[in-house]
Amino acid sequence: MKNLTLEHIAEACGGIYRGTEEQKKEEVTCIFTDSRKAEKGGLFVPIKGARADGHAFIEQVMKQGALATLSEKDLGEQPYPYIQVKSSLTAVKDIAEYYLKQLSVPVVGITGSVGKTSTKEMIAAVLSQKYNTLKTQGNFNNELGLPLTVFRLRDEHEMAVLEMGISDFGEMHRLAKIARPDTCVITNIGLCHLEFLKSRDGILKAKTEIFDYLREDGHILLNGDDDKLVTVQEVKGIQPVFFGIENHQGIWADEIKPEGLKGISCRIHAGEDSFAVLIPIPGHHMVYNALAGTAVGLTYGLTLEEIKAGIESLQPVSGRFHIMETDRYTVIDDCYNANPVSMRASLDVLADALGRKVALLGDMGELGADEVEMHREVGEYAVSKDIDVLLCVGDLSAHMANAAKAKAPDKEVLHFADKEALLAQLFQILKKGDTILVKASHFMEFGKLVEALSEKT
Ligand code: ATP
Ligand code: MG
Repeated sequence: MKNLTLEHIAEACGGIYRGTEEQKKEEVTCIFTDSRKAEKGGLFVPIKGARADGHAFIEQVMKQGALATLSEKDLGEQPYPYIQVKSSLTAVKDIAEYYLKQLSVPVVGITGSVGKTSTKEMIAAVLSQKYNTLKTQGNFNNELGLPLTVFRLRDEHEMAVLEMGISDFGEMHRLAKIARPDTCVITNIGLCHLEFLKSRDGILKAKTEIFDYLREDGHILLNGDDDKLVTVQEVKGIQPVFFGIENHQGIWADEIKPEGLKGISCRIHAGEDSFAVLIPIPGHHMVYNALAGTAVGLTYGLTLEEIKAGIESLQPVSGRFHIMETDRYTVIDDCYNANPVSMRASLDVLADALGRKVALLGDMGELGADEVEMHREVGEYAVSKDIDVLLCVGDLSAHMANAAKAKAPDKEVLHFADKEALLAQLFQILKKGDTILVKASHFMEFGKLVEALSEKT
């Protein structure tokens, strides 16, 4: 890894180097925290987790050929070099910050309340038409995930697309200091993480910390249909570019037409030019993600043809509106996460499906004081749509079910205490040919329901 000698690493993280002078000059080949992913010549970072302490694996990874390790403990004399640090987690952030500065790769940083991963996938699909692009894997977006993503960068990468997620003030400032984005994209200011950030203004303030290290010749790309984001003014002399469906200031879309589970089509306008495109994942929100992809593509000199091809090449990620055809059902696996905005968006798509439509919804977490009301609203919304069966699972979802029953007493609405209670009856409720939306917050582990559905023959 460019310039990442043990000497430079120790300097970058303020650690004490313990090893020979010769080894000090060696560059590490990779940086890893998972002892199962030990690589020859790599630097091991032992992290203390809730369940295990990485320090217990130091001997093992060194035997597997790692070059060196960090350690929060004084390991005394060892046959291998190590860098003693106060906190491995702090060190990893410092090293990532240093490493990214060694590379001249332009960075697109993406944050927002909902849709970061989906937008990141879209932006990377677009940029990959022209550049060798590294993107965050899965959801590696936090204070550990972001550094680990940065460590995957190599000289051959021409662009980096990094997802940046936070739950409290100050966190984005630190992530921004690592990523130093050239381009900042904010998807929306919604209702996630209210526990810490209190209000949407609080969220706006926390997310816009992403501008703290924006480069002077940088770009700010914002969802112009978001009432909070649209208030963002010039930052460091940089005017934000807005994208939206309602807002026609910058990049915008019209002729929006859901194409069932095939996706959603629209026409995207940029100045005098426009192109029609089929976004291969359904959902009104995907139009915003395609607009963000277009805005980034134009920022980095792609033609509209390349942008269109990029959008059309998008692949679904499991758990995020991933449509699966099983022997019996069409399953919309959207179980990765949920909040009131994304619940509504997914229900809209389910309502367009053919055949009987079943919404299998679970609790939404981290909603703060209004959580009961928000669950009630989702329940009411679900039955206001053309959906045949609503199955609610979890404590908070009892409110969803109650509100739905009150609004539409004739609809089939059932509540289950937990997944086990649901599974005991699920296959009696479902019919062959049903389209089933599976969606809840991550902690509900609805992936297990998706598995059960896909295994049913
Ligand atoms: P996390 O905070 O867990 O990282 P995220 O911000 O990365 O979440 P995604 O995983 O991309 O969000 O999307 C979560 C869900 O939100 C998707 O399954 C989809 O239903 C919906 N979604 C995707 N893009 C958008 C968008 N631009 N606006 C609103 N909802 C969206
Ligand atoms: Mg994400």
